[in-house]
Amino acid sequence: LGHPEQEGLRKSRHAFLDEMQRCEQLGLTLLNFHPGSHLNKISESDCLKRIAESVNEALTHTQGVTAVIENTAGQGTNLGWRFEHLAEIIAQVDDKTRVGVCIDTCHAFAAGYDLRSAEATQATLDELGSVVGFEYLRGMHLNDAKSEFASRVDRHHSLGKGNIGLPAFT
Ligand SMILES: [Zn+2]
Repeated sequence: LGHPEQEGLRKSRHAFLDEMQRCEQLGLTLLNFHPGSHLNKISESDCLKRIAESVNEALTHTQGVTAVIENTAGQGTNLGWRFEHLAEIIAQVDDKTRVGVCIDTCHAFAAGYDLRSAEATQATLDELGSVVGFEYLRGMHLNDAKSEFASRVDRHHSLGKGNIGLPAFT
């Protein structure tokens, strides 16, 4: 949704609106999506702005569905791995009542948010609260990570089997 080129952006926006409209027809109130990549062709802030504009456009043409931005592991040029990215998108969405975030624990860990102890998990959640705000939290994907801490690699694992371990989830 933050595609640097017009054609790619147009296709992504069309597909996203289509999904939002399907949710609307089915009475589903939340649509989770990965924000997008800058492909090294535009700046991070330009890309985040495009993503917010994509959300604005989809929200204008739908009712009752909230666009839920999922944090990413930050593979390649994917944005949304820093909580600040999520906040920057939300700041530029016009209807704040229909935008939210979903935090995937594997992605957060791979992006450099420590979850390996109760204390580290608390600190990460505090950071989420202060940077994004819990009023925007609409969901969580609870996954352990096969990837290393801060590796920016997206590899899920079963709970308790990976590099996060059980303390974050108990
Ligand atoms: Zn993942």
